[in-house]
Amino acid sequence: MNFAVPPAPPVVLPVSGSDAVFPVRRVYCVGQNYASHVAEIGGDDRRPPFFFSKPPDALVAGGGLIAYPPRTTNLQHEVELVVALKAGGADVPAQQALECVFGYAVGIDLTRRDLQAQAKESGRPWEMAKSFDQSGPIGALMPITRTAHPVRGRIWLKVNGAVKQDGDIGQMIWNVAEVIANLSTYVTLAAGDLIFTGTPAGVSTVTRGDSLECGIDGVGALSISFRGQKLEKTET
Ligand code: MN
Repeated sequence: MNFAVPPAPPVVLPVSGSDAVFPVRRVYCVGQNYASHVAEIGGDDRRPPFFFSKPPDALVAGGGLIAYPPRTTNLQHEVELVVALKAGGADVPAQQALECVFGYAVGIDLTRRDLQAQAKESGRPWEMAKSFDQSGPIGALMPITRTAHPVRGRIWLKVNGAVKQDGDIGQMIWNVAEVIANLSTYVTLAAGDLIFTGTPAGVSTVTRGDSLECGIDGVGALSISFRGQKLEKTET
């Protein structure tokens, strides 16, 4: 093929216990899927799930040292169970949805909360709050050939060693099968798709120099840190 400009490299994730890598097609995210987080940001926990996207190249496979993003003074972490699909389709019945799952990972939906608040207030899109460069750190995929479908288990995140988020994936309002089924009524899903399934309570603001660790029982763990000197906290 004669490319007019160099094509972007494929986005791939490591797979635990395998030399194979998982090629990413699309990245979807569920908003407000834990009642405890819905309460802390003032939402309604009885609404059907809603979705947004991140570009695949916003993923940071394996975490590590990343740049602190521009245009924000309120960057927040959201630790999430991420589902990776090996198959898809449209209108997937919930009863068959888990058959589409390749595996699971722990991810962080980094959010420029100040830009999200502005977008909500003005009824504008969320992309610049959610879909910026390096906004999706993600660990290795745990294939379901090596683990059961996780239905409960601790999901946690620490900032500089202090626990900020500490929930259980059993607290999800819409479970993995329901999320896949509902999302597939809007778009046709396919192998390579990822779905970030929402975050429990405890989201907090992080700054340059901060280190984050997170994990989900039976799925994996992930660490990231932000480049730069930690700024002195000022009371305002
Ligand atoms: Mn999220």
